Amino acid sequence: MVSISEIHQQLISKQRSAVEITQEALENINQLEPKLKSFICVTAEKAIAQASQVDAKIAAGEKIGPLAGIPIAVKDNICTRGIPTTCGSKILENFIPPYESTVTQKLVGAGAVILGKTNLDEFAMGSSTENSAYQVTANPWDVKRVPGGSSGGSAAAVASAESVVALGSDTGGSIRQPASFCGVVGIKPTYGLVSRYGLVAYASSMDQIGPLSRTVKDSAILLQAIAGYDPKDSTSLNVPIPDYIANLKPNLKPKGQIRIGLIKETFGQGLDSSVLQAFTKAVELLQELGAEIQVISCPRFSYGLPTYYIIAPSEASANLARYDGVKYGFRTRESENLLNMYTKTRSEGFGLEVKRRIMIGTYALSAGYYDAYYLKAQKVRTLIKEDFNKAFAKVDILACPTSSTTAFKVGEKTDDPLSMYLSDLMTIPVNLAGLPALSVPCGFDQQGLPIGMQLISNVLKEDLLFEVAYVYEQSNNWYKFQPQL
Ligand code: GLN
Repeated sequence: MVSISEIHQQLISKQRSAVEITQEALENINQLEPKLKSFICVTAEKAIAQASQVDAKIAAGEKIGPLAGIPIAVKDNICTRGIPTTCGSKILENFIPPYESTVTQKLVGAGAVILGKTNLDEFAMGSSTENSAYQVTANPWDVKRVPGGSSGGSAAAVASAESVVALGSDTGGSIRQPASFCGVVGIKPTYGLVSRYGLVAYASSMDQIGPLSRTVKDSAILLQAIAGYDPKDSTSLNVPIPDYIANLKPNLKPKGQIRIGLIKETFGQGLDSSVLQAFTKAVELLQELGAEIQVISCPRFSYGLPTYYIIAPSEASANLARYDGVKYGFRTRESENLLNMYTKTRSEGFGLEVKRRIMIGTYALSAGYYDAYYLKAQKVRTLIKEDFNKAFAKVDILACPTSSTTAFKVGEKTDDPLSMYLSDLMTIPVNLAGLPALSVPCGFDQQGLPIGMQLISNVLKEDLLFEVAYVYEQSNNWYKFQPQL
C-alpha cells in the first residue's frame, strides 16, 4: 500500500517520476472501472500534464511540497474549471464550470494530480451512490454491495487504490459513512474550516468538503492543504490552522488525559452485533492505549435524523431553484411557453430522490407550515448542539460506530427511503451541530465487510481527532487490509 509520504519519498529520491506514478494510476483505473464505476470522468491528459510539471520542478532542483505528484480523485459536485461537473445529475449533464473551486485550486497549486471526478448520489442526496443519474458504484470489498454515499465514488476509488486520496463532501454523513463501508479513513471538518466556494450547494448550513484516504496521516496531509480562510465563502472561519502532521505522535497523552465518551443513545435497536463487537474491541484498545472511557448521554441525539430531514430538504429546495434550464446544463427539448419549459426541464432533469427532497422542503417552508416544521427543527437543532456542548465539558472525544450496519446490497434499500435515511443515524447530529468527526476502520464483519468507528470532537479540534485516530490506527492492522479485486 502506497501512502502520500511514500510517494513523496520516491519522487524526491528520483526513484519514480510523477508521470510514471500517474500513468500507473490511470492504468489501474482502466482495469478496475468496468467493475467499480467510481469515476464519472477520468481526466487522463490533464493528469499527465500536471504530473509533467511536477517532474520539471524536480528536474530543476526545486523543492516540492508533500502533495506534489500525488494522484487524487475529486467528487463530482466540486467545480473544476474546464472539466465537466455533473453532481451525478442529468440536469448538469453538459455543465463545464467556468471557475475553479477553492479546494481544487489549492490542490492544483500544491502540485496534486487530479485523476478525475467521482460518482455520487445526485446532488449528494443519498447514502449508497445509487441515486446517480449515470451509474451505480460498487463496493470494492463486495461488488454486489453499495460503497455507501453520497461520496461513494471517492471512497471506492481510495479503497481500491485507484487513487491515493480523494475529496468528498459531507452534509449528513457522506464522507464518513462511505469511508466506513469501504474501510478507509474519512473526516468531516468543522463547519467553516474548509471553503465551500465551488462546492455545489445541497444544504448550505451543513455542507463541508473533506478528505478520504487509506491512512489517518494522509487525511491529515490533505486537510492541511485545503483548510483555511477564504473570503469567497461568507461562512469561512478566519482561524489559525494547527500543524496536523506534527501533532501525530506514536503514543497517546499520559493515562487519563484523553477522555472518550461513548454515546449511550447509539447502542439501541438496529445496531448490527458485528458492528457492536468490533466497536467494543476498538474501545478496549483505546483504553489500553491510555484513554479514559466513560458513557455519556446525548439525550436528543436520535432527534437528529427527523430534524435533518426537515432542514436539509428545506435548504435544498431553495438551493436547487437555480436549475431552470436557463442558466445551467440541461433544458427540455420542446416546451410550449416559459413556465412549461421550467417545469419540463426540472421534471426531466432531476431524479426521484431530488424531487422528493424539493417537495418536502418546499412544503416545510411554506406559509402555515414554516413554524410547525422548519422553525421547530431549528429549535431542536439548538438542543442537539447543547447536548454536545454539555458532553464536551466532560470528555474530549465522543465515540460511536460510524454506521449501524456494514455495506448493504445494491437495490436493497432503493424502494424504502426511510430505511435508507436511517443509515446516517450516527453521523447526522454532527453536521447539525457543525462539529468535526472522523471515521477510522475498526474491523470486519463475518462476511469480510469493513466496519468504521466514528470519533467526534468539539469545534476546531481536528488535531485531536487525528492524534487519537492515528495512535489507534497504528496499534492495529486494519488499515493494511486491501480488497481483492
Ligand atoms: N445521506 C444523507 C442525505 O441523503 C447525507 C448526504 C450527505 O452527507 N451529502 O442527505
